[in-house]
Amino acid sequence: MRAGRCAIVGRPNVGKSTFLNRVLGQKLVIATPKPGTTRTAVLGVYVDDDPPTQIAFIDTPGMARPRTALHKVLVEEARSGLLGADVVLFMTEADERGEVPKGDAAALQALEHVKVPVLLAINKVDRLKRKERLLPFIAKYQEHKAFDAVIPISALKGTQVDAVIAKIRQRLPEGAMFDEDLLTDRPQRFFVAEMIREAVLRHTHGEVPYGCAVFIEKYEESAKIDRIHATIVVEKDSHKGIVIGARGSRLKTIGTEARKAIEELVQRQVHLELWVKVIEGWTADPDRVRKLATRAEPI
Ligand code: GDP
Ligand code: MG
Repeated sequence: MRAGRCAIVGRPNVGKSTFLNRVLGQKLVIATPKPGTTRTAVLGVYVDDDPPTQIAFIDTPGMARPRTALHKVLVEEARSGLLGADVVLFMTEADERGEVPKGDAAALQALEHVKVPVLLAINKVDRLKRKERLLPFIAKYQEHKAFDAVIPISALKGTQVDAVIAKIRQRLPEGAMFDEDLLTDRPQRFFVAEMIREAVLRHTHGEVPYGCAVFIEKYEESAKIDRIHATIVVEKDSHKGIVIGARGSRLKTIGTEARKAIEELVQRQVHLELWVKVIEGWTADPDRVRKLATRAEPI
């Protein structure tokens, strides 16, 4: 058995969530085209029997300059996540022009003091029309950092995703890290909240900015059906109106879509009740941000 933590670092939109969704086999993290929607540190654990492996993936919400309290917590999490990692997976996307974007150069500089191996995954190679452009592109990255390995992948199509897992595994310590029971319990609530939040973001088309979070009020499991009460927290009255929609129509759509996704995750029938609550300025309060954005706990 090899087990450990892998931090994923990369600019928004390079495909980190898509990669994780594929690796974890279920829709456990948000994958949307909107940048900056991923806000948690521990995302999910990859478990395999052959060969015996446990990889805890730690997402990093980008190494952007902190502006609000929300942002500060995110960056903090990113850093602490990195500190506890056994290996870092640095993800970027293939680019025809072949330049290293400023954001990546800065992030690689921030990784200078990281002692653990750093792997480079170049995602979206399926988009590359001229594959021969890949080698010079890789060389440019290697000028910034001595990577332990470089793997061109397509998270969307699943190309070389196994190779990434194998490379991560090789770099993990021997022995188990998690009790299998622990793996299914706490995260479930969290993933449920994430699925609801994803549905909100999808149906509000950016009208409700990222000051939107979800917490689980009640989670009752029974043999046949899970009863879940969840609250969607927004920052302003006007956002509440947007989420609810005319005569509750939008909230209904959000609820139906989230319920289906949750049923797929828990493999059971789900009864989902949603409320919308306004908490002004919650994103400016680090304690609330920590509770809400990283643990889906009521505030
Ligand atoms: P994140 O912000 O790094 O988590 O990025 P996401 O996983 O949310 O992906 C951002 C966008 O890139 C989405 O529209 C994905 O469908 C798309 N994407 C992700 N991986 C690939 C890939 O391998 N190929 C292509 N063509 N698109 C991808
Ligand atoms: Mg993401």
